[in-house]
Amino acid sequence: MIQDTVGKDNKNWHAQQVSEILKNLGVEPASGLPAEEVQKRREQYGLNQLTARKGTPAWMRFLLQFHQPLIYILLAATLITLFLREWVDSGVIFAVVVINAVIGFIQESKALKALEALSRTMTAYAVVLRNGKEKRISSSELVPGDIVLLCSGDKVTADMRMIQCRDLQVNESTLTGESVPVQKQIEALQTDAALADRINMLYAATFVTYGRGRAVVTATGDSTEVGRISELISSAESLDTPLTLKIAQFSHYLMYAILGLAVVTFLVGFLRGQPFVHMFMTAVALVVSAIPEGLPAVVTITLAIGVARMARRRAIIRKLPAVETLGSTSVICSDKTGTLTENQMTVQEIYSGGMRYRVSGVGYSPEGSIQNEQGEPADHSAALKECLTAGFFCNDSHVVQKEGLYQVEGDPTEGALLVAADKGRSLFPEGLPDFARIDSIPFESEYQYMATLHTLPDKSYVVYLKGSVERILSKCRYQLNSANEKEPLQRDKIEELAENMAQRGLRVLAFAKFHLSSHAGKIDHKDIPSELILLGLQGMIDPPRKEAMQALKNCYAAGIRVKMITGDHILTAKAIAGQLGFKSGPEAEESGELTALSGKDIEKLDEGEFEDCVGRTSVFARVAPEQKLRLVKAIQARGDIVAMTGDGVNDAPALKQANIGVAMGLAGTEVAKEAADMVLTDDNFASIEEAVEEGRGVFDNLTKFIVWVLPTNLGEALAVLCAVFTGAALPVMPVQILWINMTTTVCLGLMLAFESKEPGIMNRPPRDPDAPIMTFELVMRTLFVGILLVTGVFGLFLYEQSKGASIEEARTVAVAVLVIGELFYLFNCRSLTRSMLSVGFFSNRWLWAGISVMLALQMLFTYAPFMNLFFDSAPISLESWVLIFAVGVCIYALVGIEKWIRFHKKNKLEGY
Ligand code: ADP
Ligand code: MG
Repeated sequence: MIQDTVGKDNKNWHAQQVSEILKNLGVEPASGLPAEEVQKRREQYGLNQLTARKGTPAWMRFLLQFHQPLIYILLAATLITLFLREWVDSGVIFAVVVINAVIGFIQESKALKALEALSRTMTAYAVVLRNGKEKRISSSELVPGDIVLLCSGDKVTADMRMIQCRDLQVNESTLTGESVPVQKQIEALQTDAALADRINMLYAATFVTYGRGRAVVTATGDSTEVGRISELISSAESLDTPLTLKIAQFSHYLMYAILGLAVVTFLVGFLRGQPFVHMFMTAVALVVSAIPEGLPAVVTITLAIGVARMARRRAIIRKLPAVETLGSTSVICSDKTGTLTENQMTVQEIYSGGMRYRVSGVGYSPEGSIQNEQGEPADHSAALKECLTAGFFCNDSHVVQKEGLYQVEGDPTEGALLVAADKGRSLFPEGLPDFARIDSIPFESEYQYMATLHTLPDKSYVVYLKGSVERILSKCRYQLNSANEKEPLQRDKIEELAENMAQRGLRVLAFAKFHLSSHAGKIDHKDIPSELILLGLQGMIDPPRKEAMQALKNCYAAGIRVKMITGDHILTAKAIAGQLGFKSGPEAEESGELTALSGKDIEKLDEGEFEDCVGRTSVFARVAPEQKLRLVKAIQARGDIVAMTGDGVNDAPALKQANIGVAMGLAGTEVAKEAADMVLTDDNFASIEEAVEEGRGVFDNLTKFIVWVLPTNLGEALAVLCAVFTGAALPVMPVQILWINMTTTVCLGLMLAFESKEPGIMNRPPRDPDAPIMTFELVMRTLFVGILLVTGVFGLFLYEQSKGASIEEARTVAVAVLVIGELFYLFNCRSLTRSMLSVGFFSNRWLWAGISVMLALQMLFTYAPFMNLFFDSAPISLESWVLIFAVGVCIYALVGIEKWIRFHKKNKLEGY
């Protein structure tokens, strides 16, 4: 029976004894909640989720669409035209403003939704005890009373009271701002303890950084402490990136310049005696024509499309700016195990009791056997048996059979040891002994070993250890021989054997034990003596990933350097790097030798020497997590943009420091994922390379759009200016310009975001993030196309009038020239360097859909009576259309020639 205090605002959990709490919450600590109870509580308390607090409510975001200087000008224009009794103009300008806001709002909402959906795929998990079984569940399914098992790297996802604690430390900076981890305990505290002092409680949104423990859930969802602090977690991600901010700023400057120009134009015309209304409308025309209203929205949308594309390639973007940064990545630092290799470990060699053995069989299947060097079945060596036993007991993994395939649950390194023990089953006729485990020290990269404490049948105790050869050997004094006797350790011989295995790319673990007659119920690092008995070595292969080899080649071609960072032995790391095709840094290329450094070497270098070495070195072995941070900083100091992978708790600082922090989706801890900019759902190095490729594509597409949109605005503005300075009538009216800008941005320009990547995108060097988007060439093209457009517009506008067309007809033709001109120019923009033919005429379906809609709208604009009324447009003849299309084709051809000349000249210069 649960009391009504469950999950209620009972703030005094910290002041109660554990037994009291468990009673209050109605849960058995040994078995957890039964399924029916979980069901009941879920109905009562709901899912363990924070109610999404929208960053900005929808109506507010809609209103914010009007909060742009340009829109203010248009609203002013609406009022002034109203005042001047230009009803239709007034109405149309206002309608355009509203439609523009609606489109902006819809697009922004879509982008936000897409990002939210992605962040939702990133659920955290929790291991709970229910029905007497340990289960990994999505943390949203937690209910009050659940018993949660925690270990270092976990995210705390509900408020909980500690009930068991092994040195559990928690980083609570999200809640308290204090970044020093807090050591937890289980004893009850004073009732008046402040939140930060309740060291027997765990709070949602914090992270376990060390140790292990169990806790019982006291509050979920909005009842948690973070749930109360509403601002802390807002569901909406920011859509700002360095690029969007740069563009917003650019638009601002542009606008002030244009406004200044408009005021001057207005005054000049007015003083020359032009009527006020005419000059006012001219000034408005100038303003609306020159400003690329759609630019910020398109940038955001293009980035959002990039996010979706990357997700399809197994890279989940957590922070939008990463999409941009990926395109300029120049160094990738990657983990070895699991990222560059398959993490499919198989023990192949064993050394123990002075004998070497081979282990046959592949993968995690138990088929295979252990043979001595003569190929005969292994003898009943006591050392070999103990070595296998240690691997079996000092182990937290399981090998399971799923759909006929053998798979590891847990650490693959440990899974391989289970399989090896299984292959040696003929050595244990009565089966492996059953030693109950009392306690363990889990494996952590810093310590490089794991230990477990067991009870032996004679009621004495044994501690089995396994870990890196250096670490274990440093604590050994004896070795076990095949007759089960202690001998003095032959350190040199063992080291030589281990190096020999490592040189062949094997990952080597050493095994040791010591006996105890009594124990304190738990073991710690300080309890490990330095006179262990060495049991042997096991060497396992971890084949390199095939995709990684190709990805590595692509990276080199793309001017991206790759560095392997690993906790493994330097010789193993070098051997694997060699198999994968790693090259050394450019500075060391002459020697051709693969340069590697170990964590110890790095320690000895000062900052200057280190920065020097970093460029030349491509393999970093036995690296401690803290050294990763130093590594990232040193590479950044060389002016590089660094992507760095990580999975452990201690990788978080390096992931944050890197320009792109990449966390492992499968093997990574929640801490690492939270700190990362990008999460790989398959932990595969190739996915990083693919994400970089997508990032480059996104940037290309953005550039294409900008190169397309700016000449359009320039052409329109020039048309207005020409009219003012020649005293001619305006070829296009403000409302018409608004119409053009709105329809072409959505129907034409936006479709460039769907262009596929340029071939050879990975054959050019990374983009310099500080380089301007508008290179000299692109500025020149903008001017060129702007002039072509204005020539076409004025040419046909004057020609139509000379043939006796009305001003409305002539303007309709001018509008059509702009629209059709942009349409043809769009084809030029599909690729920055190549021609439309090599891009593939129909390769972008979106483009053709957009063009069809655009043409239909233009027909409506020209021939629908109501549109004629609103926009002062008029039906035009077939002959005019022929001329309009001729202008379009001319623009396409001229830009095509310009591109061809430029591209070929450049190719020649580069010596192709
Ligand atoms: P990485 O994941 O980069 O290969 P780790 O830090 O996981 O490096 O491993 C470093 C070394 O610690 C390995 O070379 C191996 O000798 C040892 N080791 C790895 N996993 C375990 C484990 N589960 N238990 C004991 N020792 C391990
Ligand atoms: Mg590892």
